[in-house]
Amino acid sequence: MATQKMLKFVSLGKEMPTKRDATLRATDFQEIYREFAAEKAAEQASRCSQCGVPYCQSHCPLHNNIPDWLRLTAEGRLQEAYELSQATNTFPEICGRICPQDRLCEGNCVIEQSGHGTVTIGSVERYLTDTAWANGWVKPAKPLAERAESVGIIGAGPAGLAAADALRRKGVQVTVYDRYDRAGGLLTYGIPGFKLEKPVVMQRIAQLEEAGVTFVMNCKVGEDLSFDAIRGQHDAVLIATGVYKSRDIQAPGVGLKGIVKALDYLTASNRKSFGDDVAEFDTGELNAEGKRVVVIGGGDTAMDCVRTAIRQGALSVKCLYRRDRANMPGSQRETQNAEEEGVEFVWLTNPKGFTGHDSVEGVIVQRMRLGDPDASGRQSPEPIEDGDYTEPADLVIQALGFEPEDLPKLWGVKDLAVTRWGTIKADFRSHATALPGVYAAGDIVRGASLVVWAIRDGREAADAILAYLAQPATVAAE
Ligand SMILES: Cc1cc2nc3c(=O)[nH]c(=O)nc-3n(C[C@H](O)[C@H](O)[C@H](O)COP(=O)(O)OP(=O)(O)OC[C@H]3O[C@@H](n4cnc5c(N)ncnc54)[C@H](O)[C@@H]3O)c2cc1C
Ligand code: SF4
Repeated sequence: MATQKMLKFVSLGKEMPTKRDATLRATDFQEIYREFAAEKAAEQASRCSQCGVPYCQSHCPLHNNIPDWLRLTAEGRLQEAYELSQATNTFPEICGRICPQDRLCEGNCVIEQSGHGTVTIGSVERYLTDTAWANGWVKPAKPLAERAESVGIIGAGPAGLAAADALRRKGVQVTVYDRYDRAGGLLTYGIPGFKLEKPVVMQRIAQLEEAGVTFVMNCKVGEDLSFDAIRGQHDAVLIATGVYKSRDIQAPGVGLKGIVKALDYLTASNRKSFGDDVAEFDTGELNAEGKRVVVIGGGDTAMDCVRTAIRQGALSVKCLYRRDRANMPGSQRETQNAEEEGVEFVWLTNPKGFTGHDSVEGVIVQRMRLGDPDASGRQSPEPIEDGDYTEPADLVIQALGFEPEDLPKLWGVKDLAVTRWGTIKADFRSHATALPGVYAAGDIVRGASLVVWAIRDGREAADAILAYLAQPATVAAE
């Protein structure tokens, strides 16, 4: 075995074989990896000082009881730790993988703040739930009694699924409608598989089906089925449709071939990973292989695009962002990951136009500087005169964020009140909308946000719907 490459994990005194080692069987690798993960989780959990001021817990949107499940993990009481962790989180293995922990729980760990490096809370949460799945501790909802009332949920993303789970556990009949062919929303088609493996999402959907949730897929509400029809079929309705209208660049040449939207690009890549036929990927339209790729934007979606392009074998990947590193909206951890993988960030730059005849050949880049703070307190980027240059590009991905679609118009429901940003107006706690018996949760209320907030909203909306269903029938039927 002299040729085997080994990585040394000094802190654990363990030797970990690299995946590249062809002589090692996959099962051996998995076994060693599991052992390694178990030791690492226990080691991290035992670093928690049980400080008594759990800022980690108060900065977790689900208020997970982090110190207690870390203590149980350190003591080797894994099933109890898992039970405690899942009591407040519908999908802990998903949050453990993709929460921006540096901005939430881990960023507020007192050990981190004292300069000794955070307890890696997300990794422990992920390890606990992966272990729970492997040991059969994760059980589908089995209500004590079935109820006659039914709830229609529009949107099978984390908000809709978290509500579906909570309602099913109470015996409510639940039907989830979604325009896509697979459930999961952005968990399935937005977030790349290298951050969130798709089988992890699919096993949850399978379990919800096993629990009795009915999924009506390929059903675009407003086209295939009217909102009023859904309302008429159910005792209550939850709208959890997310935000999908992408903000597009307004600049000359933006219509050239090869200038694409981030979600189209990421969806094609995710569909490929499911083994689907994706014509736009196979023709190269939505495939970065061998191309000079420029991604425009500084948020988490932009980070997912640049890292996907690297994995697809792009010739080069550059990310243009109009502010500087300190002022970018995306996670610093993700940016660092992208840099380590070979992405070049070009700070303080803005696309002014695009060159090319039929297909894009370059981005006309305008250099920027940061000026005075705007109303939000952030410094506004302003152009530098005579600083333009052309960046060669074969594929340009626009990742400037998302806005809500105009649901009242698309669905013909003018009484569904929306905010001036187009998000649905819903009560902060109960998630009730202006329409009786209609609730809303997740990004369609918050604007583009996070999975963990969508889960929280879905759980809270389910509680409010249960209270609504418990009211006298005359009120519920109103
Ligand atoms: C590329 C990308 C990467 C992200 N990465 C992260 C991350 O790493 N960590 C994190 O916490 N968050 C991340 N987010 C944000 C996170 O994915 C969202 O905040 C979260 O998915 C919102 O959940 P939701 O249930 O409200 O909506 P969605 O997940 O968007 O689900 C909405 C569902 O509604 C369906 N739908 C919409 N309209 C209709 C209709 N008319 N009829 C039927 N169905 C409809 C859609 O098909 C979709 O399945 C990312 C977002 C993007 C775009
Ligand atoms: S749900 Fe997210 S914020 Fe809460 S403990 Fe888990 S990783 Fe941290």
